[in-house]
Amino acid sequence: MKQELVFEAPRRGMPPRHLADLDEAGRVAAVTELGLPKFRAKQLANQYYGRLIADPQQMTDLPAAVRDQVSSELFPTLITAAREIQCDAGETRKTLWRAQDGTTFESVLMRYPQRNTVCISSQAGCGMACPFCATGQGGLKRNLSTAEILEQVRAASFAMREDHDGRLSNIVFMGMGEPLANYSRVVAAVRRITAPPPEGFGISARSVTVSTVGLAPAIRKLADEKLGVTLALSLHTPDDDLRDTLVPVNNRWKVDEVLDAARYYADATGRRVSVEYALIRDVNDQPWRADLLGKKLHAKLGPLVHVNLIPLNPTPGSQWDASPKPVEREFVKRVQAKGVSCTVRDTRGREIAAACGQLAAEG
Ligand code: SAH
Repeated sequence: MKQELVFEAPRRGMPPRHLADLDEAGRVAAVTELGLPKFRAKQLANQYYGRLIADPQQMTDLPAAVRDQVSSELFPTLITAAREIQCDAGETRKTLWRAQDGTTFESVLMRYPQRNTVCISSQAGCGMACPFCATGQGGLKRNLSTAEILEQVRAASFAMREDHDGRLSNIVFMGMGEPLANYSRVVAAVRRITAPPPEGFGISARSVTVSTVGLAPAIRKLADEKLGVTLALSLHTPDDDLRDTLVPVNNRWKVDEVLDAARYYADATGRRVSVEYALIRDVNDQPWRADLLGKKLHAKLGPLVHVNLIPLNPTPGSQWDASPKPVEREFVKRVQAKGVSCTVRDTRGREIAAACGQLAAEG
């Protein structure tokens, strides 16, 4: 059965306002509305982004008499951890979050020797219907609010600091959802992730990756925002025939259009674009496809691209599997032979269904 693509999520059921939804002007307006002096706006932001505290009862610089009011007006509990699972000897940790309305979504914290990355969700479910992706099978539930996105980041930063004596360094929008289909909330979240405290979490823009199926106009719009974040494009095949089925949005924006948009992004930001390619046995792993991929990417992006091959993570009920290692090696060699940089992504979290494309939240 063919699933309809969903570009616009239903507006219903968005959560209540939270401090993290607001920019600086919004925070000042919000505290003024509560009858508080303006400087409280900065104090609250500093608690949230700088100290990672979201419970006003713990904000010792806030008068006890106003904590309840600030709590209910600006710090509603938006998401609670319903389940946590770990693997890779505790280096990978998946959290199932439950929002106020019962909606569930996931994030994954991955610790490496040189970096600590959280993979976050931008939507509950996804409307893009890619047949190899677990999230794509369940359809779109709703967009996440900016604060729901940022709460995943705060929780990961907090866990890094409290449990691991470390620091969160990287953010990838590669959890559930299509970030560019929740455009304004995702952009607002990115601004606060990258702004220095007290305005934001102070994570370097180049360490933030926004991954997309290839909504070409939105890629160009994102380029014009000049955020400096890394763009990842989920290409998965260089030819329209196959991409029409692997990434159904290709029926709307073709491979060439999407690569042109990626080039525009690279030129506007000076950042190399990541092309994501899930290698699927006997589906998109043929030598001729590797050659065509290398040729197209070289022509359209030259040195401004890096290919990440992801061994397919099989999802329940799917016939598809990862390509054998020799096929994978040959694929890499052929792409590189066209002058395009290409490596194989390591796949963390497989045994807890936390690897790429395996996120499919259950209640
Ligand atoms: N919607 C965005 C971000 C979420 S998915 C996007 O498509 O880019 C993050 C990456 O995981 C995408 O490249 C996606 O194609 C890939 N992916 C999805 N299912 C996968 C699977 N089963 N195995 C390997 N990669 C998968």
